[in-house]
Amino acid sequence: RSKPGSVNVCAFYTNDGRSRMLREKEIENRMEAALAAGEFEVYLQPKVELRWNSVAGAEALVRWRDRTRGLLPPSEFIPLFEQNGFIVKVDLYVFEQVCRLLRKWLDEGKKPMPISVNLSRVHLRSLNILAPYDEIRARYDVPPELLEFELTETVAFENAEALRMVLGEFHQRGYRCSLDDFGSGYSSLNMLKDLNIDVIKLDRTFFSDEGENDRGDSVVQSVLELARRLRIQTVCEGVERPRQAEFLRRTSCDMVQGFVFARPMPVADFEELAYSGKPVPMAQTE
Ligand code: C2E
Ligand code: MG
Ligand code: MG
Ligand code: MG
Repeated sequence: RSKPGSVNVCAFYTNDGRSRMLREKEIENRMEAALAAGEFEVYLQPKVELRWNSVAGAEALVRWRDRTRGLLPPSEFIPLFEQNGFIVKVDLYVFEQVCRLLRKWLDEGKKPMPISVNLSRVHLRSLNILAPYDEIRARYDVPPELLEFELTETVAFENAEALRMVLGEFHQRGYRCSLDDFGSGYSSLNMLKDLNIDVIKLDRTFFSDEGENDRGDSVVQSVLELARRLRIQTVCEGVERPRQAEFLRRTSCDMVQGFVFARPMPVADFEELAYSGKPVPMAQTE
C-alpha cells in the first residue's frame, strides 16, 4: 500500500510547487500597488533596558496588511522581495515611516526613543546606498543618533569589505549600526575586532529551549563580557522566559527585545507603553 501513497506525495509536491509559483506571481503583481496604497505597516517591538525595565528604544518590523489575506508576517514576503529586489523600496518606506514618527515625537516635546530599522543585504549590491536614506532623514530633520541600522551577520560574512565601507559611511553621518542575529551563523569573533559596530543583537537561538543549558549560559556570558570589553552595546533577542531575563540582568546584558516583555505592536500601542513612565511588566510564564 505504499505505492499509491508515494504517487499522492508526488502529486502533492507538484500542486504545492505550482500554487507557490502562482502565489509569488500574484504577490509580484500586487506589491507596487500595495506599497502605494499604504498596505505595509510598521510595527514596533520595545527594547527593554534591564536596569530599570524601561523602554529604551524599538525595532521597526514590517507587516503587510493584505485586503484578503490579513496581516502577513515578514516570512511570507521578505524572501521573495529579497530575490526580486523590491526589499530596497520596502526598507526605505519603513525608514520614512520611522523618521515621520520621530519627527512627531520631537514636535510633541516627547523624549524621542531611538528606533532601529533592518537593512537588507540586497542594498550592499549597489553603490551609494545611503543617499536616499540621507534625503529622507534630512526631509524630516531627525538627528541621526536616533536612527540605527541593523545588518545581519550573513552580510558581514559574505561581503566583509563592503560592510566595512558602509559602516564607515554610516558612522560618518552619525547613525548607529548593529549586527543582527549575532551568533546564528558564521559569526566570527574576528568580525568584532575588525568592524566598528555599536551594538550586537544576540540571536534568539541562544534563548531557545534547546539552547537553554549551562553550556549555553556560558557562551552567552562570554559574548556579553567580550562586548563589554569592546564597548559594544548588547541586545538579547527572542527572550521569552522571566528566568532568562533575570539571568541576563545578572550577566549585565544591556537590553532585551523579546516576548518576555513585549511583542511587536502597532505604533499607538508602543507610544502608550513607552511613554507611560512605568516599568514594563514581565510575562508570567514560569
Ligand atoms: P529580526 O530583524 O531578527 O527581527 C526580530 C524577529 O524576532 C521579529 O520577527 C520578532 O517578532 C521576533 N521576536 C522577537 N522576540 C521574540 C521572542 O521572544 N520569541 C519569538 N519567537 N520571536 C521573537 P518578525 O517581525 O517576524 O521579523 C522576522 C525577520 O524579518 C526579521 O528578523 C528581519 O530579518 C526581517 N524583517 C522584518 N522587517 C523588516 C524590514 O522592514 N526590512 C527588512 N529588510 N527585513 C525585515
Ligand atoms: Mg532586526
Ligand atoms: Mg535578529
Ligand atoms: Mg533576522
